[in-house]
Amino acid sequence: MADRCHVVLIGPQGSGKGTQAARIAPRLRLVHVATGDLFRQLMTRDDELAREVRSYYDRGALVPDELTLRVLLQRLDELERESAEAFRGALLDGYPRNRAQAEALDQVLRERRDSIAAVVHLAVPRAVLIERLSGRLICPQCGATYHIRFSPPKTAGQCDRCGSALIQRSDDTPEAIARRLETYEQQTAPLLDYYRARGLVVDIDGNQPIDAVTEAILAALEPRVGDPSRCRSS
Ligand code: ADP
Ligand code: ADP
Ligand code: ZN
Repeated sequence: MADRCHVVLIGPQGSGKGTQAARIAPRLRLVHVATGDLFRQLMTRDDELAREVRSYYDRGALVPDELTLRVLLQRLDELERESAEAFRGALLDGYPRNRAQAEALDQVLRERRDSIAAVVHLAVPRAVLIERLSGRLICPQCGATYHIRFSPPKTAGQCDRCGSALIQRSDDTPEAIARRLETYEQQTAPLLDYYRARGLVVDIDGNQPIDAVTEAILAALEPRVGDPSRCRSS
C-alpha cells in the first residue's frame, strides 16, 4: 500500500491554520484534514459520542487521545477507500497536539509506510491571536473561516462559498480561548523540538496578510512535497 507524504500544520489557536490549509491543500494536491472540523461535524449528531466530545470541546479542553486518534484514522481510511489514487497525502491541521499523539501518529504512519514531508510552524504573537479569535466567524455547513474585520464575507453574516448563515464557534469565548492557548504552550509547542530534531520544521511568520503567509508556505513546501523520490507524485 501507500507511500503517502503528509504535512503537519502547527501553530497556536488563531495563527491561521484553517485559513491557510484551505488555500494550500489544493495547490499541493493534499487533502485538508482538521480534527476540530471532524469533531464539529460529529457534534451535529444527537448521540452519546457527540455528547462526550461536546463535554470537552465547549470547555476548550482536549478530547482524549484515544478517541481523537480513532476519529482521525476513520477519516484517513475513508479517504483511502474513496479516492485511493487521488489521495497523495493529508494536510493535518490540529493533530498532533501533544507528545502521545505525535508518537501515535509516527506509529500509524510507519504501519502504512507513509511519512511526514514537513511540519509547518505558524508563529503569531499572542495579542494578535486574541484579536483574531474574538472576531472569527465560521460556516457551520462547509467549514469556511472568516473574520469580522480581517477577512469579511462579501455579504455580512453569509458564507461566500455556500450561502449558509455564519456563526461564532461555541469555544471562541474569552475563557475557552485562554484555556486553549495555555494548553498549546504547555503541550503542543514542545512538539516543535520533537520534529526539529528530525529536520522537518519550516518556520513561517504568520503575522502577515493572508496572501503573504500563503506564498511563504508554498515557497517553503513545494520543493519538499513535490519531490517524487520522497512522495508519490501522481
Ligand atoms: P486556526 O485554524 O489556526 O485557529 P484560523 O484560520 O481559524 O486559525 O484563523 C483565525 C481567525 O483569524 C479567523 O477569523 C481568520 O479569518 C483570521 N485570520 C487568519 N489568518 C489571518 C491573517 N494572516 N491576518 C489576519 N487575520 C487572519
Ligand atoms: P483551535 O485550534 O481553535 O482550538 P480546533 O478546531 O483545531 O480549534 O479544535 C477545536 C477543539 O476540538 C479543541 O479545543 C479540542 O476540544 C478538540 N480537538 C481538536 N483537535 C484535537 C486533538 N488533536 N486532540 C484533542 N482534541 C482536539
Ligand atoms: Zn459555507
